[in-house]
Amino acid sequence: MLVAAVVVLAGCSGDTDAPGEVPGSDAPAGVDFPVFAPVLDGAQAQSSTVSADRVSSDYGDGLTLVQLAEPGDDLCAALADVRLADDTCDASAGSVTTSMEEMGGVGIVRDGTLLYWGGLVTEADAQLVDRATRALREAPPATGDDLGEVTGATASPTGPTGDPTQTEPAVDEALAPDDLDVATAVATIRFLAGEVGPREATSAAYDRAARWVGRRFTRLGYDVDLRPVDAPAGESWGVAVPAGRSVNVVATPTGFDPTEPHLVVGAHLDTVPQAPGAEDNASGVGVLLAAAEAAAVRSTRLPVVFVAFGAEEPRGPGDDNHHFGSRAYVAALGPAERRAVRAMVSLDRVGVGARVPVGSAGRSDPVQRSLLAAGRQAGVATVADPEQQSSDHWSFVREGLPGARLGSTPYAGYHDAGDVPSVVSPAQLERTGRLLLAWLAPR
Ligand SMILES: [Zn+2]
Repeated sequence: MLVAAVVVLAGCSGDTDAPGEVPGSDAPAGVDFPVFAPVLDGAQAQSSTVSADRVSSDYGDGLTLVQLAEPGDDLCAALADVRLADDTCDASAGSVTTSMEEMGGVGIVRDGTLLYWGGLVTEADAQLVDRATRALREAPPATGDDLGEVTGATASPTGPTGDPTQTEPAVDEALAPDDLDVATAVATIRFLAGEVGPREATSAAYDRAARWVGRRFTRLGYDVDLRPVDAPAGESWGVAVPAGRSVNVVATPTGFDPTEPHLVVGAHLDTVPQAPGAEDNASGVGVLLAAAEAAAVRSTRLPVVFVAFGAEEPRGPGDDNHHFGSRAYVAALGPAERRAVRAMVSLDRVGVGARVPVGSAGRSDPVQRSLLAAGRQAGVATVADPEQQSSDHWSFVREGLPGARLGSTPYAGYHDAGDVPSVVSPAQLERTGRLLLAWLAPR
């Protein structure tokens, strides 16, 4: 049964010449095998098989986890080929194409019935495995002639849990520091710094990163707006950079009204040309996505806008030659929208050190004090960082809006090729994220 399924699934691809840019797509050795043998519903895999670059794991009792599609494949098409999804794979419900950043679609099959399918991202997306496990636990028992109800977990309108068997999550559950899943931040850093690499604000790599972040927000249930940002030619950390277009990725909750009081949390997504930017600033984007994930299904004290800013890094000396994305964001706000921004926090270099720097543009300000209080509440060690104007919060403060910064601990590898994922500490990401969630939580 298992062997047959693998043969059919492997056969429906027929494409062994996948684009070379897909890591591991052309060589079995490139597959991070243990990923595909997670503990499912408390059960360990009894055996696993690699067929070409496809993987399946057998858990006994008719239960298998199989790789259904390669990165870039259309999952509906892949499922239709094995007669599991003719009627129920609904492209209009959202994206069902496995993204190039994903290892591929995976499915859990029990007694020939597909119980779950979804994307499995990079090598350690524990959360998606958890979702699959939960879906498996709650799935109705398979009946003999049932071809299986296929529900698009990643495209599900039921919210970021992606759990097709769960009803609408209780949005009135209050956000709390424990809701942070640091694995989301770690996976983000591995992808942005480990796979995309340097992403100067106007480069194709930046554009790829921005679209990836946009898809992440969309899957969490946010409305996403990619807003162009003009960046001038100049010199960034000693390297000539061209004039071009960058982009702010703006995620808002459903029904958001920008003239009503709200909070803005931002992190710059660009890097200087020579750095893969794990700490500066995939770390900030990682905590941004982890916070957005936690906030998506829980209540916060005010609605929250999450922004990945383009073109933060300098393209010349002085205030007017950096922070282009955040300055464009502020410049586009009308009077009522400006009044509605109750506070902005910039996450910038938040994965190094043992205490969380809490920066204020001047000596001290109310946003900084509220962040320091949130740190005490979350049990997170902090250090005040006054006169801090080197990040996107400054674009808000200099225009009279309230803003502060988390992060800035010095480290080796700053703005050079050594800014790789290993410089970032998950414990510090967790401290920063917990502090942020305490700050966003209802009072
Ligand atoms: Zn930075």
